[in-house]
Amino acid sequence: MHKRIGAHALVVGGSMAGLLAARVLADHYDTVTIVDRDELAEGDGARGGVPQGRHAHGLLTSGRDTLEGYFPGLAAELITGGAPSGDLLGNSRFWAGGHLLKRHQTGLLALGPSRPFLEARVRARVRAIDNVMMIDRTDVVGLTVDGDRARVTGVRVVSRGGDREERLIDADLVVDASGRGSKTPVWLAEFGWPAPTEDRVPIDLAYTTQVFHRGPQALGGDVVILLGYTPQHRRSAIAALMEGDKVLVSLVGILGDYPPTDDEGFRRFAESLCQPDIAEAIRGLTPVGPAVSFRFAESRWRRYDKLSRFPAGLLVIGDAICSVNPAYAQGMSVAALQSTALRDALARGRPVDARRFFRAAAKATMGAWQIAAGADLALPEVPGRRTLADRLIGRYVARVQAVAAHDEVIAAAFVRVAALVESPPNLMRPNRLFRVLRPRRRRPSPAASVAVGR
Ligand SMILES: Cc1cc2nc3c(=O)[nH]c(=O)nc-3n(C[C@H](O)[C@H](O)[C@H](O)COP(=O)(O)OP(=O)(O)OC[C@H]3O[C@@H](n4cnc5c(N)ncnc54)[C@H](O)[C@@H]3O)c2cc1C
Repeated sequence: MHKRIGAHALVVGGSMAGLLAARVLADHYDTVTIVDRDELAEGDGARGGVPQGRHAHGLLTSGRDTLEGYFPGLAAELITGGAPSGDLLGNSRFWAGGHLLKRHQTGLLALGPSRPFLEARVRARVRAIDNVMMIDRTDVVGLTVDGDRARVTGVRVVSRGGDREERLIDADLVVDASGRGSKTPVWLAEFGWPAPTEDRVPIDLAYTTQVFHRGPQALGGDVVILLGYTPQHRRSAIAALMEGDKVLVSLVGILGDYPPTDDEGFRRFAESLCQPDIAEAIRGLTPVGPAVSFRFAESRWRRYDKLSRFPAGLLVIGDAICSVNPAYAQGMSVAALQSTALRDALARGRPVDARRFFRAAAKATMGAWQIAAGADLALPEVPGRRTLADRLIGRYVARVQAVAAHDEVIAAAFVRVAALVESPPNLMRPNRLFRVLRPRRRRPSPAASVAVGR
């Protein structure tokens, strides 16, 4: 039995973080209102408020497990609806650090719904909760506070349709899930509260994505091909089967190397990747519509967990706290992990203590940040501080990836960490450390690994 905490909670943003926040808030508030600037239609098309949704969006195991806990039967529903599925290493080609990870059955599910398809199903589940309401086509333009500015009491909104008059909506709790462009730091400053400091890793990344009609043997029978970048080969890519008999291919360039959107340039970029898998996969496939691009300047973590003062009645979640290099496919899963931190805080049956929540959310974020920032800082051109420990960890991870090309135990351990099932320090558990560091007679070259792996 869940304890009631208040009458009304309001969530700014109805994307993944907002939907998951609403799901857990609904157990403790009489009414939960999600406000989004977009039209939140029943269908599963891409929408303007989530432009990144047109690009490859892997759902990591940790995120999938959390979603399944909130919405039992969701994975089966996605698969029945046409989302391709398979084993994370058994039915995928996962290149990390220039090595093809040893193919074998891990028991971890690789699930390939496109982002809009996944979001639409999660949204339908949240919409079906009796005490959740959605107000769409409405911008949240500010917060309201009480007389002494100690507590947030609601939001100011402007509807995109109709008269565009500003209205107030009262709430006992406002949760900002409005993504990277969140205005909370500005709103805090407006009322005399300190804004959070930001950890940043500038990467000047760009995605270009093209959807193709699926051929009969698309991706050689695999669900996904992941081609991570290395310090020597900075171009990376993801090719994934998706619902509707299509293949989605995202090409990724870093440090200003933007993949082109025209067909010829797109294919040329694919051919320049360090392995031929992706170029081969799209050869002869027909594009569906034009390619689209997305630029991502920097990984950014707003350190709400380090603030010593924060108003009551306000929380922040998802990309509004932290958004990391998307090539590691972590954002939705981090939002899911943060939502479990919120669920646990709510389980105390009292209004959530913001500072305590932000500390728990930071714990849920740390693994993803360490993986993404750690790998990006291995590129000498990426500005940022590197400690000796960072360099040693970088070398160790490179070794893990090399060993994972032929050692199932290490390959499985690596993907469990990459899928946020385990935290990065687990790669250094004694039995794994031994397997990684023990001398080997001869390792197969990456080219030989491809032949062995398929
Ligand atoms: C190119 C790219 C690829 C990615 N790939 C992956 C991947 O493979 N796997 C993965 O897990 N994650 C991936 N991500 C990250 C993922 O998209 C996000 O982490 C995830 O969507 C959670 O974000 P969010 O809900 O916090 O914010 P968002 O998804 O950005 O949603 C914010 C919502 O708030 C609404 N909104 C914003 N401002 C207002 C306002 N003032 N008033 C009302 N509504 C407002 C918007 O309309 C939107 O619905 C990728 C990101 C990018 C950029």
